[in-house]
Amino acid sequence: LPKLDVAAIRADFPILQETVHGKPLVFLDSAASAQKPECVIKAEVDLYHHYYANIHRGVYKFSQDATEAYENTRETVRAFIGARSTRECLFVRGATEGINLVAQAWGRAFLKEGDEIILSEMEHHSNIVPWQMVAEEKGATIKAIPVLDDGSLDMEAYKSLLSDRTKMVAVAHVSNSIGTINPVKDIIKMAHDVGALTLIDGCQAAPHFQIDVRDLDADFYAFSAHKAYGPTGIGVIYGKEDLLDKMPPWQGGGDMISTVSIEKTTYNDLPHKFEAGTPNIAGGIAMGAAISYINSVGFDAIEAHEKAITDYAMAVLGRVNSLRLIGTAKDRCSVISFVMDHAHPHDIGTILDRQGIAVRAGHHCAQPMMDRFDIPGTVRASFGIYNSTDDVDRLVEGLQKVVDIFG
Ligand code: PMP
Repeated sequence: LPKLDVAAIRADFPILQETVHGKPLVFLDSAASAQKPECVIKAEVDLYHHYYANIHRGVYKFSQDATEAYENTRETVRAFIGARSTRECLFVRGATEGINLVAQAWGRAFLKEGDEIILSEMEHHSNIVPWQMVAEEKGATIKAIPVLDDGSLDMEAYKSLLSDRTKMVAVAHVSNSIGTINPVKDIIKMAHDVGALTLIDGCQAAPHFQIDVRDLDADFYAFSAHKAYGPTGIGVIYGKEDLLDKMPPWQGGGDMISTVSIEKTTYNDLPHKFEAGTPNIAGGIAMGAAISYINSVGFDAIEAHEKAITDYAMAVLGRVNSLRLIGTAKDRCSVISFVMDHAHPHDIGTILDRQGIAVRAGHHCAQPMMDRFDIPGTVRASFGIYNSTDDVDRLVEGLQKVVDIFG
């Protein structure tokens, strides 16, 4: 197996040299947002230093150079997710905006009273609320696939929720709160068998393993660049071309039009039909740099490395006094959630912070999932390519302090 050189990777991320409260930083919150390698930072700085201009309409050199760099990312994204065409890769502010785009542009045009949308109990709020909003508007109903005790989806229950009323199935590829990898290929196939479309929220998949939207046969697929070592404010919603063609545009403005008169507007071709206004030019260019960086490390090495750290962390955390892991499904990513008997997640997070260890504490924008486990929140440690088993050891030491204080 290709091996990942953690020391070399760490040297690519300037922020990892920082100290926090006088201690070397242990960054265990990549599921919320990953840190950025120098090449991503440089891609933004180079644009602003050397060739910045608005894109898609300039006749002069800088505008053309910036347009080329921005549109090159489109091809990088297409290859990254295995889309047929760059016309299927829409650039949006992030996964949240991508899901809202589909819920509103597709949902308003095609949902009818009595239609059903199936989500799951483990969804991030951004894959729940947009559907509730359009369901309320159109008189559609939302159903949720239950989560089993180990944190995997109840596929039998899913089967029984599906019917000819199901019009959309929207589920996460990977749970952001507990790390379960869902069998999305099966979920999509079963949805298609009843004539429903599918949206996969790939936020927590994109940084960790190869996505292939064609192999999955996903109708829509969303992810945010900032969780995949790219900048904030940019992400992707993939959609099959025939569906995007049939959907009305979402936001109106410049760039998304072909011709405009006061009486009538005709719309631009895909993907621009869904990209109104001046986009995040620097973000788009830097997202390309981030994906190229991931490609240069390679998913074989990334997966093997992150699996080793995750297996190690699951084993050693399980031995910490009074600690209970939430979510123990076999098929998992490098996101680990836990609670402790006597300490609140926020107290644990604060004690760890004093030791330079950054973890997430709370409901992780997945309140229905916390309700499912009857807990207010968890402590979540999540790993990226720059983490090592040393970071896990520091976490365990930090948790020993929590045990000492709270018993
Ligand atoms: N879905 C999942 C599974 C996530 O982890 C997140 C981010 N925590 C989102 C959606 C929303 O992403 P963003 O805030 O970048 O739009």
